[in-house]
Amino acid sequence: MSSEKKVEALIRPEIRALKAYHVPDATGLIKLDAMENPYSWPEAVRREWLDVLSRVGLNRYPDPEARVLRRRLQAALAVPAEMDVMLGNGSDELIQIVLMAVSKPGAVVLAPTPTFVMYQMVAVFLGMKFVGVPLQQDFSLDMAAMIKAVEQHNPAVIFLAYPNNPTGNLFSRADVAQLIEKTPGLAVLDEAYHAFAGQSFMDQLGKRDNLLVLRTLSKQGLAGLRLGVLAGPAAWLEEINKVRLPYNIGSLTQASAEFALTHLALLEEQARQIRQDREQLFQALSRLSGIHAWPSLANFILFRTGKREADHVFESLRAQGVLIKNLNGVGGMLKGCLRVTVGTPEENSAFLKALEAAL
Ligand SMILES: *Cc1c(COP(=O)(O)O)cnc(C)c1O
Repeated sequence: MSSEKKVEALIRPEIRALKAYHVPDATGLIKLDAMENPYSWPEAVRREWLDVLSRVGLNRYPDPEARVLRRRLQAALAVPAEMDVMLGNGSDELIQIVLMAVSKPGAVVLAPTPTFVMYQMVAVFLGMKFVGVPLQQDFSLDMAAMIKAVEQHNPAVIFLAYPNNPTGNLFSRADVAQLIEKTPGLAVLDEAYHAFAGQSFMDQLGKRDNLLVLRTLSKQGLAGLRLGVLAGPAAWLEEINKVRLPYNIGSLTQASAEFALTHLALLEEQARQIRQDREQLFQALSRLSGIHAWPSLANFILFRTGKREADHVFESLRAQGVLIKNLNGVGGMLKGCLRVTVGTPEENSAFLKALEAAL
């Protein structure tokens, strides 16, 4: 059998049909495509951090339960004391772990769309069925359609990104609460952008026994670390934790995150600056003719180009040295849409100047 034939015989058709998650090369470009925090640490803090790392024993396996780090995260993230937390190599891994724990033939994952693509991708990896329920034109939840889909598909898990990516809005708190109540399965509130939104369901943990809250340090300045946090009742996490590979959080990550949590004020100040610059960037975008920008409670702004096609604007920006995210190809509600991450004031100005030249 040729290797092509073997690939066809062995790799599942739904995997062969996927496109690999594409990350464009940003070398030499102003990078405003991936919701990263543009700020690094002051030199003195970096030195302190390197000193901490120099004392980590790499010959030993990491603490498989990351006890110290979990305890500190529980306090830093205001996870209610009677709740448990588990850690993932990014929240992406926690999405995968949650779905692995519930996947069985015919099990359904449900989310409003457009949303974070990983919910659907992981569902497909695991042979689960993904049901996407379109948001309304203003990106609010279509509650009638959501409830109908819940009744029809009986999803094992509903994912709600709060705020939503790529639209940047927060769903109505009452709508979210109603969905948590109506869904018979798990409801995972993905609060990746919590630092920029100031709204959370963390304090609702335990009041609804099917609610889990997902957080990440990625959007807050530690994207390189890969650390996600899942918080929820122990009854759920004890089972879900069995699916996690024992040493998924390396010693350097545990030590670095523990260190970062001793400098929370620094991360919070950076988030405050980003929120302030987001408003300036939004005002500037809204003043440009031919652009419609949506208000955002995250660290990015979704906008639609009018006069010129989004693809043209995206390529022109890249040629001028600014990389953002082109969502035009996704189609549907995102036709003509681009997404820019809030950078430093200088980066935002460079982006706006390039955008004006592109229009
Ligand atoms: C970026 C993002 C994540 C992934 O974060 P990592 O912790 O870096 O894996 C999860 N959910 C949403 C909604 C995101 O936008």
